[in-house]
Amino acid sequence: MKKIAVFSSGGDSPGMNACIRAVVRTGIYHGLEVFGIYRGYEGMIEGEIKKMQSHSVSNIVQRGGTILKSARSMEFKTYEGRKKAFEHLHALEIEGLVAIGGDGTFTGAKIFFEEFGIPTVGCPGTIDNDLFGTDFTIGFDTAVNTALDAIDKIRDTAASHDRVFFVEVMGRDAGFIAIESGIGGGAEFVLVPETKTDLDQIVSSLKNLRKSKSSSIIVVAEGDELGSAEQIMKLVKEKINDPSKDFKVTTLGHIQRGGKPTAKDRVLASRCGMAAVEGLIQGRTNCMAGIIHGEVVYTSFENSVGKPKPLLPDYLKLINLLSI
Ligand code: ATP
Repeated sequence: MKKIAVFSSGGDSPGMNACIRAVVRTGIYHGLEVFGIYRGYEGMIEGEIKKMQSHSVSNIVQRGGTILKSARSMEFKTYEGRKKAFEHLHALEIEGLVAIGGDGTFTGAKIFFEEFGIPTVGCPGTIDNDLFGTDFTIGFDTAVNTALDAIDKIRDTAASHDRVFFVEVMGRDAGFIAIESGIGGGAEFVLVPETKTDLDQIVSSLKNLRKSKSSSIIVVAEGDELGSAEQIMKLVKEKINDPSKDFKVTTLGHIQRGGKPTAKDRVLASRCGMAAVEGLIQGRTNCMAGIIHGEVVYTSFENSVGKPKPLLPDYLKLINLLSI
């Protein structure tokens, strides 16, 4: 293998730049030519591909977002789109790809390999931490710390005004951000898509809170079965039916995706980036380079995609236990 390319795809996440840097420099270290594909599969189809040098990735390890930009491509879901992408790669004699993204990105890469034979090793780039085959995904730690910082600030107001705050964090299908920011922020409840949400229990607990508790924070993952934080707040408010109680909602939204990656995310991204390139050199394909118990592990796309990563049961116990 002489030429490889790297791209970021799907939602951006803090640490993608550190990963791109690691891919480019590991490739150069091993004597490869490394190309950067802009805007994910969309740029692959359009031929937005540039040769990267070591200096192309200078001064980016600390930056959020992705210098290669990211995109979602409907056209790549069609055979014609993938054929155009292949033709651009073929013209440049690119023989291997490093894809930084999530489920959808890896599904696309697997189909692309089956049709055109260009191997891909993936790096887990998503704030949701929902990929099987790695303890953590690139960007998760930063997103949790961003959410935590916001929860700490909200707690100041909640405590000063004896309020109940519903804080909505990202997580359409997975509650990892909600759980970790909830534990770290001392939330009274954390509502996640993985578990049933018992409205009556929340209502009765809020009614019976000890008198000395001046505030409550309820962290809601955006994919909770009962709806958004706003909708859940309305349901709770209606059931409590006490005009003296003050309920507020804050939706954190996209601030969770941006910002400087934490040290943990930079190290994880760098390790995964290096492992992806070395995996390609060893002849691996259709797999994701992740870190499990501190070690690099390659997990096939088949196993890392669409397989729900379970929440640790003791996390849920912790939240209940620590909110008494
Ligand atoms: P995130 O976790 O941030 O959503 P993701 O990688 O899952 O990241 P998606 O938008 O689901 O993000 O997928 C990224 C891109 O991968 C899509 O825009 C599309 O181009 C490609 N892709 C997804 N699914 C398929 C598929 N079944 N066939 C071909 N390409 C696909």
